Amino acid sequence: MRSVPMLDLGTEYKLFEDEVRSAVHTVLESQHFIGGPSVTELERRLAEMMEVPHAVAVSNGSDALLCALMAMEVGPGDEVVVPSFTFFATAGSVARTGATPVFADVDEKTFNVTPETLERVITPKTKVIVPVHLYGQCADMPAIMAVAERHGAMVLEDAAQAFGAAIGGKKAGSFGQLSTLSFYPTKNLGGFGEGGMIFGGDAKLVERCLQLRNHGQTQRYIHEFVGGNFRLDTMKASILLVKTRYVEEFTRRRMYAERLAGAAVQTPEVPDNRLHVFHQYTIKVDRRDELQAFLTDRGVGSTIYYPRPLHLQPCFSHLGYSEGDLPVSERLSHNVLSIPCHPMLSDDDIDYVASCIREFTG
Ligand SMILES: *Cc1c(COP(=O)(O)O)cnc(C)c1O
Repeated sequence: MRSVPMLDLGTEYKLFEDEVRSAVHTVLESQHFIGGPSVTELERRLAEMMEVPHAVAVSNGSDALLCALMAMEVGPGDEVVVPSFTFFATAGSVARTGATPVFADVDEKTFNVTPETLERVITPKTKVIVPVHLYGQCADMPAIMAVAERHGAMVLEDAAQAFGAAIGGKKAGSFGQLSTLSFYPTKNLGGFGEGGMIFGGDAKLVERCLQLRNHGQTQRYIHEFVGGNFRLDTMKASILLVKTRYVEEFTRRRMYAERLAGAAVQTPEVPDNRLHVFHQYTIKVDRRDELQAFLTDRGVGSTIYYPRPLHLQPCFSHLGYSEGDLPVSERLSHNVLSIPCHPMLSDDDIDYVASCIREFTG
């Protein structure tokens, strides 16, 4: 039987194995393991690719969010609006600052927050809005920036899943006061271990992130405020530099095209002015769990991102949300399914996945 896994990092690695080995060898010879020229070069190159003035490399995508929120001086008494339908870190990082996450619902078709869902939950205490570009599709940032401005809130874009995505030709991550990326190995620009980055145009906020990354140190052993150890390893940065040479080509290869036509599932909707980078290819289908089992039986991988919306997570029960509060997020958690979507899929693999889904939906 054919097997189409969710990921195939092993095959991908073969394409740049020699370059990675040589980059690692250079780091080993230097015996310099934290920060240094590879990290600076990675920051420079990614700022250029994201079309943002400054970048600060950090330990992972969750710390990138935490560090950015700390730089925005978010803390107890502040509210930060986040989508309920996203990866946990978006809201977890808010809670770690002592601020209150306030959950917004998402759009049924794009899976992202919209000006309307944000307006419903913004209050005078809203300090920051955190749109997530879920699955690789840029949220409606021009409209969201206008909403934030009207309410005097800052915007932190969680672009962890959306490296290279755009709206109206402008890159995801280049709209907010700050934005973040993750280099978790399965992300579009995946590293060899943990890693993340913060982007921004405001020199003061960026300077603050640089200081927070190193325990709030402003001069050697002088700590103006409390930060953390959010530093990125040299070896990971030098491997990511290799991968930056491949990421655009790999992103192009994620395109599923129209192969699912005829299957009774909702395929991702991409409005005209958006560039979707398909971190995940996520369909919506009734009888989702049955389809997942059906695909498993036929050797096709799939994953549910995400089976429980964040406003219903046990750790946020003290916030007083209950079922029915954010109906779209709740509904999506019951009928989304992400199917294999990675650069190493062949046309035959994709045809096979599509034919299995068509067979299921009749
Ligand atoms: C992956 C991810 C993060 C966190 O990144 P890590 O590097 O795993 O800490 C944050 N937000 C979203 C939307 C993500 O997908």
